[in-house]
Amino acid sequence: MSYLKGKTALVTGSTSGIGLGIAIGLAKQGVNIMMNGFGEREAAMAEVKACGVEVDYHGADMSKPTEIAELIQITEARFGALDILVNNAGIQYTAKVEDFPADKWEAIIAINLSSAFYTSHYALPGMQNRNWGRIINIASVHGLVGSSQKAAYVAAKHGIVGLTKVIALENAKTGVTCNAICPGWVLTPLVQNQVDDRAKREGVTVEAAKQALVSEKQPSGQFVTPEQLAALTVFLCGADASEVRGAAWNMDGGWASQ
Ligand code: NAD
Repeated sequence: MSYLKGKTALVTGSTSGIGLGIAIGLAKQGVNIMMNGFGEREAAMAEVKACGVEVDYHGADMSKPTEIAELIQITEARFGALDILVNNAGIQYTAKVEDFPADKWEAIIAINLSSAFYTSHYALPGMQNRNWGRIINIASVHGLVGSSQKAAYVAAKHGIVGLTKVIALENAKTGVTCNAICPGWVLTPLVQNQVDDRAKREGVTVEAAKQALVSEKQPSGQFVTPEQLAALTVFLCGADASEVRGAAWNMDGGWASQ
């Protein structure tokens, strides 16, 4: 029987991409899932439900602290506990610092960084009372290195790696761990937008733009997949990872090793 069977996870931004992949990966271990995110959600929920676990959805906007407080409270009430918190919701915007719109900066910092503070702030007391919890922050290779035109994203992702270390230290003598995962390129809607922009800008096919994008940063020349990130999440939630604390674990085809 899975070590995680019967536990409950909240995966923010799980209506698509990496978050949905992680929700499915945890559900396959018997973990009940509270889903969250925008856009079409019925198909995503059906995929997770098909794993045979309890699934619910809350549409909290992760840029709004009061909605985050309600999301945590409703998750605990609905499932009896919140054991695994996956801070995954995120957005991207690219422009040079001098051209970066202030509202985009504020939105990226709120959704990609501050939301993880608020979810953790509200979820930690319950985890500490039960002396078991896992917080997994989906950072990015951009939590370890920079790229031009991504000021807000890189700042937020470096910030979430720092937040991860502090939460890990403050709970080091307990059964609550906190770690960050730092993916390289994963072909999700968030990246498809960057591929489409590049194809238009350079007058090349979408396929050529995709290959150029992944090859210039990722030595393997391959995209990371949501399934691979889900497997790492399951490992970090498992008993064998109880002494992995405060790590920023990259899965990036060698990107950060250059
Ligand atoms: P995606 O666009 O497919 O999914 C993002 C999810 O976040 C969606 O469910 C969306 O509805 C949700 N979301 C966006 N704003 C929200 C808000 N205000 N409130 C609630 N939900 C909101 O993107 P993805 O590529 O799967 O990205 C997921 C995470 O992985 C992000 O934090 C991203 O920075 C990180 N990441 C992605 C890549 C990549 O190459 N795709 C690489 C490294 C890190």
